[in-house]
Amino acid sequence: MVNAAGKFGPYGQPAPASATGVHDARVLPGRGQTGAELVRSRIALQVRLTSVSPGDRLPDAGVLAEELGIGEITVRRALEAMCQDGLLDRRRGRTGGTFVAQGWDTIVPALYDEGEAASLSAFHLLLECGLVAHAAGEVPAGRLGGLQALVDEMDQTEHPGQLLMLETRFHLDLAEALGGAGVRELTADLLGRLCLVQPTPHLDVVRARNRCHADLLTELGRGALDPAVQAVKAHQNTHPG
Ligand SMILES: [Zn+2]
Repeated sequence: MVNAAGKFGPYGQPAPASATGVHDARVLPGRGQTGAELVRSRIALQVRLTSVSPGDRLPDAGVLAEELGIGEITVRRALEAMCQDGLLDRRRGRTGGTFVAQGWDTIVPALYDEGEAASLSAFHLLLECGLVAHAAGEVPAGRLGGLQALVDEMDQTEHPGQLLMLETRFHLDLAEALGGAGVRELTADLLGRLCLVQPTPHLDVVRARNRCHADLLTELGRGALDPAVQAVKAHQNTHPG
């Protein structure tokens, strides 16, 4: 296609690239993240899931590249950028490598972005409502057993990190139970990004949300679509109070 200026490419001037730095919350984020963003969000998710902790050594770039299905050079650049942000530490020498920074929990709040958090949360809500509606009345009884075990475990734990880890696992496993492995990956993208842009929810909020988890499983189990969707929405609307 040739535009009015006689050149290939889009008509007119490209839209200014977010000159104000304000994220447009009307644009719903999908899987559109770059390789570097994928590295970032997956490392953040693994920290939330306590698969790695501050001070732990990360797998080599080649291993990460293979696991994420992206190029090793992209992984190296992403790790370098995370080092510059203070999220990771590079150490040289025989015991060297790339480590999760000891100060991870104090660095992350500098990255909070209310607009992006609202946008990601809105998309996650739509995704879960859609999954619940899609699966309504067709969830085999045994499929929800693992999710119920997570709800029970959340009720019993006093440990904040454990509670947040179980909260995240619930939503990943819910996505897989209702939508399959691909939807789990999409959910992992969203939740990993949220770990970096949204303040950690207050533990009382997470406990209240666990009541919504329990309600959701009950309603899914009896195939009640409207109450199940209401439980998903109530989860999102749980705030400290
Ligand atoms: Zn939850």
